[in-house]
Amino acid sequence: MILIHPPVAKPCEPPAGLARLSGALSQYKIKHEVLDANLEALLYLINSPISNTISPSGRWTARAFRNIFKNYNALKNWKIYSSIDRYKRAVIDLNRAVEMSVNNGVTLGLADIHHKELSPLKSRDLIRAAENPEENPFYPYFRERLPELVQRESYSVAGFSLNYLSQALCTFSMAGFLRKEFPGLDIVLGGGLVTSWMRNPKWTNPFKGLVDYLVAGPGEYQLLSILGIKGISEEHFTPCYDFLPLNDYLSPGLILPYSASSGCYWNKCSFCPEKAEDNPYIPTPINSVIMDLDALTAKIRPVMVHLLDNSVNTTLLMRLADDPLSVPWYGFARIDKLLTDIDFCRALKRSGCVMLKLGLESGDQRVLDCMRKGIDLETASLSLKALKKAGIAAYVYLLFGTPEETLSEARKTLEFVVRHKDEISFLNLAIFNMPVCGPEAGKFQTSSFYEGDLTLYTDFLHPKGWDRKQVRRFIDNEFKRNKAVAEILRREPPIFTSNHAPLFAMKGG
Ligand code: SF4
Repeated sequence: MILIHPPVAKPCEPPAGLARLSGALSQYKIKHEVLDANLEALLYLINSPISNTISPSGRWTARAFRNIFKNYNALKNWKIYSSIDRYKRAVIDLNRAVEMSVNNGVTLGLADIHHKELSPLKSRDLIRAAENPEENPFYPYFRERLPELVQRESYSVAGFSLNYLSQALCTFSMAGFLRKEFPGLDIVLGGGLVTSWMRNPKWTNPFKGLVDYLVAGPGEYQLLSILGIKGISEEHFTPCYDFLPLNDYLSPGLILPYSASSGCYWNKCSFCPEKAEDNPYIPTPINSVIMDLDALTAKIRPVMVHLLDNSVNTTLLMRLADDPLSVPWYGFARIDKLLTDIDFCRALKRSGCVMLKLGLESGDQRVLDCMRKGIDLETASLSLKALKKAGIAAYVYLLFGTPEETLSEARKTLEFVVRHKDEISFLNLAIFNMPVCGPEAGKFQTSSFYEGDLTLYTDFLHPKGWDRKQVRRFIDNEFKRNKAVAEILRREPPIFTSNHAPLFAMKGG
């Protein structure tokens, strides 16, 4: 079979989901290919004669095209991660060149794509993309690449790993192309986005006739079953990265993504899609995690490990503190008493931890309690201080506009950030989206502001009148303009955000 990672997603590390599936197929000696079509399509654009011969209008575009290879190569070199300003210029210029390489009503970037007519939130638009693959900006790439792969071993199944909205249009264009060219090929669709669609109680499959199998949740066992290997439900598979172009990703060496669990061990936050979708928490046994990481780091020699868990559980954190990885690592952790212990944070640092992503969400205790976040602000404050002392960067996530928040609570968040400006290395600001199938959606008056049968979020009437417009105004006019906040935000790597932030933390750039 062929496993495909479709465009468009951040091209900075290999796709972990496909590596897991490839590990399962390899274990059962099932012949397969893994195609990172996202990375290949980007390289196709960068190398295409169109990019090289286009006559750009404007100085910025001219500079972006002139430096397209230089910027691609610069992002693969450590040197640029010592200077956020030079890095920003390289990323923004490379993105500009990619954007200006296509037209046809499509706005393309390194990590996103927008079509002026087709929405990834509407199944009829995705079906239209499937019916007209030649209109996709990557058609010249995949019309050559996909047939060559399918015919190489007369493969009979193609599976797409669809995790982000930004991949949906290209996934359906490629699936539609395969359906037309190879009517006998079975098409399988899985991944995080497909899981979210299928967990909606109102889900009915709009893709019959185009997609043969839709898979929700971790796909290893279901894929094996589709391929005729039935009854496997507990076996652990070490991810396999052998078929991926590990030297080509936009990072200064390979960043190895690894999931030690799916779901979330906390699973209580009221706004969280994991909870709304009722995804079970499935941890990989710690010994298997350590064996996988040891084997993969010895074989692949990454410059860093990216732990993908929604929240790395405390048992694994403690094990890593006791039993260091041989390479630096980063990931999401919950703010917890354990992180207030400076000795523990120092042990984490010695284990290779360069950055922890922390979902603080709010600087107001009542808001946190109403969200069932399980975070105490005093603990958060002590954790940030201990991490800073230990030399671990903190990437803090904030969420504005939750049903319990008003301007005065949002200002408390601002005050918390200002008080901890020296301990917070990076900030991610988000505006609350209400999961369409979460318990909260029933409590508030809702309307579909995204308007589409595949939408995952719904608009709601804020009970205290703190609507999205006011939230946005507060963020833009007050929060971001605060001197301390602006200083933190200036460090944010554009487009690659938390994927590249730990590289700066390592280089002190
Ligand atoms: S800790 Fe994160 S993943 Fe877990 S329930 Fe809360 S928001 Fe969701």
